[in-house]
Amino acid sequence: QRRLDKSNAQFQRAVKRLPLGVASTFRYWGDERTIYAHHGKGGRTWDIDGNSYVDYRLGYGPAILGYADERVDAAARRGMEVGGVFALSTERELIVAERVAKMVPAAELVRFSNSGTEAVMAALRLARAYTGRESYLLVEGGYHGLFDAAMWMANMDEWDAKSNRDPEVVPYGKGIPETVKHLAHLVPMNDMQRLEDTFRRHGETMAAMLIEPIQGNCCAISASRDYVQLARQLCDQYGVLLIIDEVKTGFRVGKGGIQGILGVRPDITTFAKAVANGYPISLVAGREDVMRSFRYGGASHGGTYTAHSVSLAAAEECLRILDETPALETLAGYGERLKAGVSQILSARGITHSFSGHPSMFGLFFAEAPPDNYRAWKTSDYTFYDRMAYYLHDLGIIVEPDSREPWFMCEAHGLDDSCLTDTLKAVEAAV
Ligand code: PMP
Repeated sequence: QRRLDKSNAQFQRAVKRLPLGVASTFRYWGDERTIYAHHGKGGRTWDIDGNSYVDYRLGYGPAILGYADERVDAAARRGMEVGGVFALSTERELIVAERVAKMVPAAELVRFSNSGTEAVMAALRLARAYTGRESYLLVEGGYHGLFDAAMWMANMDEWDAKSNRDPEVVPYGKGIPETVKHLAHLVPMNDMQRLEDTFRRHGETMAAMLIEPIQGNCCAISASRDYVQLARQLCDQYGVLLIIDEVKTGFRVGKGGIQGILGVRPDITTFAKAVANGYPISLVAGREDVMRSFRYGGASHGGTYTAHSVSLAAAEECLRILDETPALETLAGYGERLKAGVSQILSARGITHSFSGHPSMFGLFFAEAPPDNYRAWKTSDYTFYDRMAYYLHDLGIIVEPDSREPWFMCEAHGLDDSCLTDTLKAVEAAV
């Protein structure tokens, strides 16, 4: 049994200075279960008690190559040595923008920011500036960051699946003004009829449709190719811009992102996470005529730390590796092996299960097929998964509890067979 004495003591002190004893609410897992990281290397993280974990959260996805990757860290140090932040542009921005455009053809022009939230915020503003419209469409179960416009969700608590009613649209928590609610429309994923109806009713006043084709904050529930293609077609028909949020999928599920796999070209894409193996940087990228709305007299965009030289140097090296080496195939191959191993353990016990998403970020469900939308997921029973996740923590494997996030793979997992064997041993014991 793992000991958490130091984490527990840290929690007792931290809770006096930090709300919930943590820096980000989702890192609080209960007074006794909240753990504090000491360091990470490759595919593993060590907590302050010295317990080691094969880590499938990877900082919510960013550590695509693994923690403390020497190639990227060396580049970041070079970025640090030149001075940090200048209130001037640098040559490296163009190198990164050219790499991104080569990997993702829809990313014709690129702007930088620091977090996923900032990138999506900029993308929505850009769409509004370009179209002169204000409302927008979100897909239930999606997450696009912490800004007010993105924080509307379907309230499943009092929803009756048998009724014909839609769930009520409510904010994620308090502090989000009701006055902006009328601008957000919400549709259930993969319901083609509802998508058409919504465009028929609101298409002419919508600036954008925002979609995460693999919902990285909702256990990798995935849009069908047909659904995303219909979205593309309806956006064209109604003059709405299609924003694909690839903050989690970008530079992870493939060099060209989920848009490359689905064969759909968005007008705007947002990226973050895997861009720089964990250094804070995000991108908003897209169609040339749309992106040129970032100008004086157009959509405002900027920020003190935008294209910071440390993150930018890390991005240059990380994207070079992802583009020029088989890193993404290595980690997807690891994901396939892991899924097959987990499947074997579960099947041997007659436990029905299925997977969602992509081998580089997959969800695990104890049902014959994964849910294809948020309503189906929220009305299913995921107690077994959550209990398994907590047992796995005790056994040295870290996956997201509450089954919100998929299992994220990194290149280092795929290069170290002990990650796989340790994980399968723990899964066997936990099950
Ligand atoms: N979009 C998506 C798809 C995300 O997964 C996230 C973060 N989980 C965000 C936006 C927001 O990114 P950040 O936390 O960096 O602000």
